[in-house]
Amino acid sequence: MRTFQIKGIIISKRDLGESDRAFKIMTEHEGKLEIIAKNTRNGSSTRNGHLELFNYATFFLYKSENHTYLNQCQTITEFTRLKSNLETISTAYYAIEILDKLTALNDPAEEIFTLLLSFLRELEQNPLKNETILLAFKTKLLYDMGLLPSVIICDSCGNKLAPELIYSPREHKFHCRSCQINPGFGGTTISPQAIKLFYFLQKTHLSNAIKLKTDQTLSQASKELTTLLDIYLQENLGKELKSKTISYNL
Ligand SMILES: [Zn+2]
Repeated sequence: MRTFQIKGIIISKRDLGESDRAFKIMTEHEGKLEIIAKNTRNGSSTRNGHLELFNYATFFLYKSENHTYLNQCQTITEFTRLKSNLETISTAYYAIEILDKLTALNDPAEEIFTLLLSFLRELEQNPLKNETILLAFKTKLLYDMGLLPSVIICDSCGNKLAPELIYSPREHKFHCRSCQINPGFGGTTISPQAIKLFYFLQKTHLSNAIKLKTDQTLSQASKELTTLLDIYLQENLGKELKSKTISYNL
């Protein structure tokens, strides 16, 4: 039996049988792991306080042939301010749901772990900026996972300076107005300001994203980018997210 310790963030939990629970944790070096914590459903386990959603902790684990089990757990950060505000709970819950659905178990992804940790830290420190933080998180997550193009240009003529580009989910392509062959296909329009915001959020750290000055242009660009990202998420997740319907049972 191999024992080891690892730092990670709890992104989901579920009951398992009558007395156990299974947790998914996003770790720095081993990607997303599923671990089983035995006898944690009776309420008296001393480990329960450390096993809340969003907690960043050191996990002491042991591995059998088929499963990984929790021995002990030591919290590093609980994000208490985040958990005392319904808006930030809702934002964090939505983010970990996306993250969980888009990632596979045991697939190391250090940049995703780092992104999640800075996302939770920013939410903890800047609860009023939760919408910008979420938009930046979604942009970086989809970009880091290779689900978004790195450059947004018209697929037909290569124009990247068109007054607006239209993304058609049916074709998986962007077109400028003059090249859009099948306007009947529908799609979502994205302005140069929104594309600029997309490039900025891809590259910048979350702590810089929240410094963006909120004005009418930015809020319009954020709205367009959010719509575009949500279409990408629907395409990649295949079904409706639980979205912002929240279980407050952390
Ligand atoms: Zn074009």
